[in-house]
Formats: sequence, structure tokens, C-alpha cells
Amino acid sequence: MIQFNNVSKWYGRYQALCDVTATVSRGEVLVVCGPSGSGKSTLIRTINRLEPIQGGSIVVDGQDVHACKSIDDLRSHIGFVFQQFNLFPHMSVLDNLMMAPVLLKRNSKAAAREKAVSLLERVGLDHKAGAFPGQLSGGQQQRVAIARALAMDPKIMLFDEPTSALDPEMVNEVLLVMKSLATEGMTMICVTHEMNFARDVADRVWFMDAGAIVEQAPPSEFFTSAKTERARKFLSDIR
Ligand code: ATP
Ligand code: MG
Repeated sequence: MIQFNNVSKWYGRYQALCDVTATVSRGEVLVVCGPSGSGKSTLIRTINRLEPIQGGSIVVDGQDVHACKSIDDLRSHIGFVFQQFNLFPHMSVLDNLMMAPVLLKRNSKAAAREKAVSLLERVGLDHKAGAFPGQLSGGQQQRVAIARALAMDPKIMLFDEPTSALDPEMVNEVLLVMKSLATEGMTMICVTHEMNFARDVADRVWFMDAGAIVEQAPPSEFFTSAKTERARKFLSDIR
């Protein structure tokens, strides 16, 4: 479903992705981990063209992401959840969820509202529909951010450290929403240091170092018998 073909990316003279070739299948749940600066965010941001690439190609469902004409069209199929929630602060929770479906998908307001309400129920926040983001806890804001991404019916969900800005007691409520998505067969790429989530939910783990995917393995294998010294050190450091 997603193919990285010899993808290279430079920030100026610094090469952040080095000839990455990899594939993600439909319905697969992938956890991407690795040390700070290894290129995890860069890698997932290239999938919906938040970052341009200078070499290779990324193909999503047969479409070359960096050659396609409409970024809006591309992004409407790919949900992205950021560390810092990125909700629209001046809009109610309901309006945050309705905006893209109405503007980009030309859904009627009534249909967008109905869908928004059911997604809010799903993430346990229907009682917050009229609140503004600033009135919500971090965990609640992140659940709204996930619901907002789902409002576009994405084929793929990308998460960049969705729980790392949260107080510890709010991490679980967000992981539970992510787990339920995974169970329903959503194709997901999650950059996270939540190794329990990786163990329980991921089909595969990618370990990145210095702009490359240096290990790809099912979690059972990665956590018990990582092949590289770098991965073993990473795992012992975060434990
Ligand atoms: P972290 O775990 O800290 O989030 P990461 O694995 O997500 O790290 P990236 O943010 O992808 O790493 O960064 C990869 C490398 O590219 C780093 O060395 C970083 O300094 C560099 N980099 C990232 N964004 C930019 C930018 N906009 N301009 C220049 N260099 C950048
Ligand atoms: Mg990052």
C-alpha cells in the first residue's frame, strides 16, 4: 500500500533519509522507533508531502505522492496526528471535526455534523463537542485530533509521537483509541516510544538510525533478539 523506493532527503547539506526502501501493507500496524534525530519524523512526513524528497519515490496505492497534482486530495486519504495536537484553537471541537469534510470533501454540514458527533462518541468526547481546545486536557485534545483525522475517512493514519507531550496519566486513553483503530484494520504508521503499545499492537517494528531503517521485525523478534548493537543499546536505554 505504501512503497518507499530508494528515498533520499536532504535538509540543505544534511542527509536525513538515506536511500530508504521499504513497504507497508494494507491493514498493517507499524511502529517506528529509533534514537532522536534518526529521521523518524522526516520519514513519516514525506508520506503526505509535509516534507519534499530529493531522491527516489513514495507510492501510495499506486500513486506517486511527490508527483501527484493535488496535495489536498493526497492528504484527504492520509490522516496525520502530531505530537502537539495542532487543533484550531479558535474553533469548537465540533467545528474542528467538521471543517475539512465540509471544505475539502464538500460534505453537507448536516452530514459532517452527524459524522463528527459519532466520532466524538467513539473517542469518548461527545460531551465536549461545544468546548474549545484550550478547555480540554492534553489527552482529550489528542483524542479530538485523532477524531478529526478520522472524519476524512483516511486510508492511512500516521502518528508522530502522539503521546509524548502528554502527562503520564493521559497516555493510556490515547493509546486505547489507537489500539481500537488498529483492531479495526486501519493501516497505521506510529512513531512512538511506547514499547508496550508496539508489543501489543504492532505487526512490525522499524528501527531507524542515521536516516536508514536498520531493522524491520515483528515485535516479538525485535524485543527479544534485535540484530544490531545500535538497536540493543536503544532498547536498553529506554527500558
Ligand atoms: P526525534 O526523536 O527527536 O523526534 P527524529 O527521529 O524524528 O527525532 P527528525 O526530526 O526526522 O528525527 O530529524 C532527522 C534529522 O534531520 C535530525 O538530524 C534533524 O536535526 C534534521 N532536521 C529535521 N528537520 C530539519 C529541518 N527543518 N532543517 C534542518 N534539519 C532538520
Ligand atoms: Mg521526531
